[in-house]
Amino acid sequence: MPVPPGLTRPHVLVLGGTTEARALAAALDERPELRVTTSLAGRVKDPAALPGAVRVGGFGGAAGLAAWLGAHRVDAVVDATHPFAADITAHAGLAAAETGVPLAVLRRPGWEPVAGDQWRRVPSLRDAARALAGHGREVFLTTGRTGLAEFSGLDGHHFLVRAVEPPEPPFPRHLRVLLDRGPYTVHGETELLRAHRVDVLVTKDSGGAATGAKLAAARALGVPVLMVDRPALPGTVRAFADLAGVLGWLESALGRRPGGRP
Ligand code: NAP
Repeated sequence: MPVPPGLTRPHVLVLGGTTEARALAAALDERPELRVTTSLAGRVKDPAALPGAVRVGGFGGAAGLAAWLGAHRVDAVVDATHPFAADITAHAGLAAAETGVPLAVLRRPGWEPVAGDQWRRVPSLRDAARALAGHGREVFLTTGRTGLAEFSGLDGHHFLVRAVEPPEPPFPRHLRVLLDRGPYTVHGETELLRAHRVDVLVTKDSGGAATGAKLAAARALGVPVLMVDRPALPGTVRAFADLAGVLGWLESALGRRPGGRP
């Protein structure tokens, strides 16, 4: 049986779920000499269409991912997941080590404070919850719908939670949910902070422009910010902050594959 022509092209797996992953898939999909598949966890019920092939759902841990790489003849993996998606990033590192498939991480830079910001960095959501004791009652929580359990005992605070999908319990007793996915403007965020008389903003250091406007709004209104630090990347992985860097890496990684030409 003749081998379908598509199967001989280098296959790039993009671990997705971010704006950066979408931009990478679009750039790779423009190159007819490559095949690109984006993998989504399946957390969002109705994700926007993506260029290239898409697969949805967990792989079944690092071993499942390694098996998938082999079964689908993947030549390179780019982990372009969210900076706080630590499990899939760890699994990608293990699967790449097991299979020898080249792996790089595409990760947007974190946010940096500027003059006028009142940030306190905390290492985890649990520490953010503890640190709320020193702040006023109205809390704007933009850390996503998972992890709300950390705040569930804090009955003295009122939480405004913004998330793409509705959260599931356990969550704080006094809770209002805003379903939204951005991008957001400084004007809109300022109005939101004002309307809800927000005393303190809790956010993860996700980085990026789409959700950064809340920080400018907090600065303008003098609202303090509890900034949850990113989990560390596995020590050995190649990491790039922009598309150009990861595309350059891919060029050489695919050029090195046995008999391969990018
Ligand atoms: P996580 O805690 O690192 O991953 C939990 C499990 O979900 C993984 O073990 C894996 O299941 C599966 N998974 C995660 N990302 C996947 C992907 N791209 N393709 C296939 N399976 C994936 O991840 P998370 O924080 O729940 O994030 C899930 C997804 O949402 C990621 O794609 C991430 O980019 C996106 N996202 C996350 C955040 C955030 O704040 N964490 C924000 C925006 C977008 P198996 O072990 O079964 O393979």
